Amino acid sequence: MRHRAGPMRVVDDLARLRQARSWMPGVFGLVPTMGALHEGHLSLVRKARAECDAVGVSIFVNPAQFGPQEDLARYPRNLKQDFELLEPLGVDLVWTPSPETVYEPDFQTWIQVEGVTAPLEGELRPGHFRGVATIVAKLFNAFLPAKAYFGQKDAQQVAVIRRMVRDLNFPVEISVCPTVREADGLAMSSRNAYLNSRERGAAAVLFRALSAARSLYLEGERDAGGLRAAARRVLDEEPMVQVEYVSAADPDTMRELEGPQDRILLALAAKIGKIRLIDNFLLP
Ligand code: AMP
Repeated sequence: MRHRAGPMRVVDDLARLRQARSWMPGVFGLVPTMGALHEGHLSLVRKARAECDAVGVSIFVNPAQFGPQEDLARYPRNLKQDFELLEPLGVDLVWTPSPETVYEPDFQTWIQVEGVTAPLEGELRPGHFRGVATIVAKLFNAFLPAKAYFGQKDAQQVAVIRRMVRDLNFPVEISVCPTVREADGLAMSSRNAYLNSRERGAAAVLFRALSAARSLYLEGERDAGGLRAAARRVLDEEPMVQVEYVSAADPDTMRELEGPQDRILLALAAKIGKIRLIDNFLLP
């Protein structure tokens, strides 16, 4: 696909975004992010750049998807470095709206995806997916992308967005990119920066737990409960980890599976110190 001819445009208000977007013909690809960019985000941008005529990135720490006890205020923000990472990748358009631009004071319209948001992250983070679905719908309406890129790292988010796109007929193709990992297997996350060195060492246990369950699966184990138990045994060996859930779920509906299954989303959430981490493997 065509590579960007001009400089990267960075805008913060909606009118300028729409105007800049309107000058970009062809297939437009959008990568929604909350900034503090790392290789995981950049892999999405590279895929978009390879597949689309023009590429947009949004950088917005969306208050609506954080619970009152969560880390909104502490969430890492580093716009200058984000721009330095995006520019050489050939990004055309970056939107960095303020919370007031996205949510006017009298804002009162929310997107509530139902069943698929109920378990797992939805259960532990009430309101999280209402915030996610609403911001993604707003980003789709602002950028009018033909394609949008999301990470498998946030597997339930992918399921929620796919459901919303189908239910509300958004003319957007959803592309899901593999989870980018550190050398020891830890899934890259903006929150990893907050792990101290002992916690960082312990965090690799999530990957080891998923890997143990996957090995069993590859040896022929298909029982959802057996795979959950295999992952949990590994997590339980690491005293610094507080497990929030170990799930073997249907990757589309997020319903917990029982008995023999072929297609399984193995998903974990755990706290290490104050930092909450999630990870998953999609089997096979
Ligand atoms: P975030 O900034 O955390 O909201 O993430 C923005 C997008 O990047 C989401 O679609 C995430 O799933 C994706 N993402 C985050 N971490 C990774 C990773 N380690 N590998 C692949 N995609 C990721």
